[in-house]
Amino acid sequence: MDQKLWEQMKNQPLLKRISAQEEVVWINEDLENAKTALQKLDITMEDMEDAQARLARFAPFIQKCFPETQPQNGLIESPLTEIENMKKQLEKEYNISIAGRIFLKQDSHLAISGSVKARGGIYEVLKHAEDLALEHGKVKKTDDYSIFASDEMKKFFSQFKIQVGSTGNLGMSIGIMSAALGFHVIVHMSADAKQWKKDLLRQRGAVVIEYDDDYSKAVEQGRKESDADPNSYFVDDENSITLFLGYAVAAKRLQTQFEQKSIVVDENHPLFVYIPCGVGGAPGGITFGLKQLFGDNVHVFFVETTPAPCMLLGMASGMQNKVCVQDFGLSGQTHADGLAVGRPSGFVGGVMTHLLSGEMTLQDKRIYDFMRDIVNSENIFLEPSACACFMGIVDCFKTEEMKQYIKNHHLENKMQQAIHIPWATGGSLVPENIRQEYMKTYL
Ligand SMILES: *Cc1c(COP(=O)(O)O)cnc(C)c1O
Repeated sequence: MDQKLWEQMKNQPLLKRISAQEEVVWINEDLENAKTALQKLDITMEDMEDAQARLARFAPFIQKCFPETQPQNGLIESPLTEIENMKKQLEKEYNISIAGRIFLKQDSHLAISGSVKARGGIYEVLKHAEDLALEHGKVKKTDDYSIFASDEMKKFFSQFKIQVGSTGNLGMSIGIMSAALGFHVIVHMSADAKQWKKDLLRQRGAVVIEYDDDYSKAVEQGRKESDADPNSYFVDDENSITLFLGYAVAAKRLQTQFEQKSIVVDENHPLFVYIPCGVGGAPGGITFGLKQLFGDNVHVFFVETTPAPCMLLGMASGMQNKVCVQDFGLSGQTHADGLAVGRPSGFVGGVMTHLLSGEMTLQDKRIYDFMRDIVNSENIFLEPSACACFMGIVDCFKTEEMKQYIKNHHLENKMQQAIHIPWATGGSLVPENIRQEYMKTYL
């Protein structure tokens, strides 16, 4: 892009406010009706169903290897919990009146790795394991996949390497599952990654390489090392369709939970979903799945912190992964370690162009306030990154932008029947001493 156009773009009022680290709400003017938008994509409902079927094939293995998944027969799924006390707390604290019910999607409590990454990350490792096993004639798709837990399979997988770059949670999902299958696994971790995550991974048998640099550098280096080794497979958080589809399955599972709880989503009962966003894979995959299943009745917003709003900058400027937060004078350094990403996924940005309703940003200090609120009101612990989701609800009832959005979509009279889902993306594995530290953090 030439210098003049670049300066012009940076001077757009919203982008200037983002550069100044203001909290903003951005409404996506390119949102289209879901059917039209989905028809333009190469990924389909069948792809999502294929991913769901693969997870079902692996359920006997998962159940055997990770006994905590036994109550759900080897499915890795999280509770959907109504949080009425938190609703009251938010109303009081932010001086708003919240129409509709709030259900917390507790991916914070997903089995095995305690974050949303247990969806995409684990799915991609399983798919790679299946591909290798099929290719080498070790299994048939109709076999009972509990044989993946056998010593013979472990020996087979020990010839192969899996590598990934991560700020922490993706590394934990990939690392734990790869090690369980017997792979040699190397996790390239950025400077933001927390010590306890590195320790836990090493304990499970993963090799952890630490970088002084940010997430993009860790990914770059990991990819380079993996590409140089024919027996190594790189999990590419920025471009992986497999990862994306693993996340998308969440929508199918949510639909089942709605049925179990008699929750209705239709044109008179709108669904609002607020998901913390890093590079975009997790929130993007979930959004794709939700739009497939609930179409125009679901309204999805991503939430990022003001020092690292990479997806927002990519989407609002239309430049996608051609821009990074540093181009706008931002550091990319945020207390929300799971969201500490400077450059968004171009693949996800492209898929979201006509599906995403908008984005919100919040200052770092607020994530700790929200964390104390959810602990004190509901006794649910979430990690700082995950708490960004609550900003979506506050903004929904506090900002002119959202009032206008609701009006434009003719939802004013339907908000009493709305369902709001803040998507809690991580937290259950955070050690007690770190929780205490977080609870005492005021910025
Ligand atoms: C990874 C992560 C996200 C965001 O997922 P992306 O795929 O990076 O957009 C949100 N919250 C937590 C806790 C995470 O670990």
